Amino acid sequence: MGFLKDKTALVTGSTSGIGLACAQAYAREGANIVLNGFGDGDEIEKTRAAIENDHGVKAIYSGADLTKPDQIDELTSLAVDTFGAVDILHNNAGVQHVAPIEEFPVEKWDLIIGLNLTSSFHTTRLLMKQMKDRGWGRLIFTASAHALVASPYKAAYVAAKHGIAGLTKVLALEGAEHGVTANAICPGYVWTPLVEKQIPDTMKSRNMTRDEIINNVLLDAQPTKKFVTVEQIADLALFLCSDAAENINGSLQQMDGGWVAQ
Ligand code: NAD
Repeated sequence: MGFLKDKTALVTGSTSGIGLACAQAYAREGANIVLNGFGDGDEIEKTRAAIENDHGVKAIYSGADLTKPDQIDELTSLAVDTFGAVDILHNNAGVQHVAPIEEFPVEKWDLIIGLNLTSSFHTTRLLMKQMKDRGWGRLIFTASAHALVASPYKAAYVAAKHGIAGLTKVLALEGAEHGVTANAICPGYVWTPLVEKQIPDTMKSRNMTRDEIINNVLLDAQPTKKFVTVEQIADLALFLCSDAAENINGSLQQMDGGWVAQ
């Protein structure tokens, strides 16, 4: 069994992409898992059962919509009632919308701020005390290179991710004397459904073809000219949970092939 045996990890937005890879990594190290997110019920059940079978842990699923505070309350209560505690809270769920500010739909702004920023306030508000009481906790955020730098046409996303950077630092200070650390992972472009889905709107906003968007916009941002992989992010998340990372607190961990160094 790995170094997270007897711990529980709640990963928001873990039915897909980065969140799923992180949930699988925590399970590989022995943690019980709370999955959350949307998707096909049968697929999610297969994923949940595979986590249990592959890693000998317990995994539960909640389809809570994190734009709804009462459903976040139900999610965190379910996790604590089932496992007795949540030791690792990985705030990961997020969506994107690409449009110039003068055309940016108000409901998309509200959705992105609500999901990508405010939901992390609620999950953490509800789970911080039990971490502090036990003297150990890991708050991990999937932020973005867009927590540190901007791109055009992503007003809501960049605002939300900069907000996550600030929230991470505040929580690092509030948890510091209680064994609770808070850190944000700031990936560049990772090939997941979130990136794939923004290509059509980016083609419109920039008047470019699909290949031009991939090579001249997405990979152009990353000096390595490679997408980050979900497994690389999951390995960094695991490291942030280890004893070796005890003094990494309030950090914004770039994993972007050199993007924000430019
Ligand atoms: P993804 O689309 O594969 O996964 C998003 C997850 O969030 C899914 O599980 C989805 O069901 C869930 N979700 C969506 N709306 C929800 C809601 N209202 N309530 C609960 N869950 C909801 O995307 P991804 O690329 O894995 O993104 C995960 C995180 O990584 C996001 O916060 C994103 O901003 C961030 N990120 C992604 C990239 C990238 O290039 N893919 C880069 C930097 C940061």
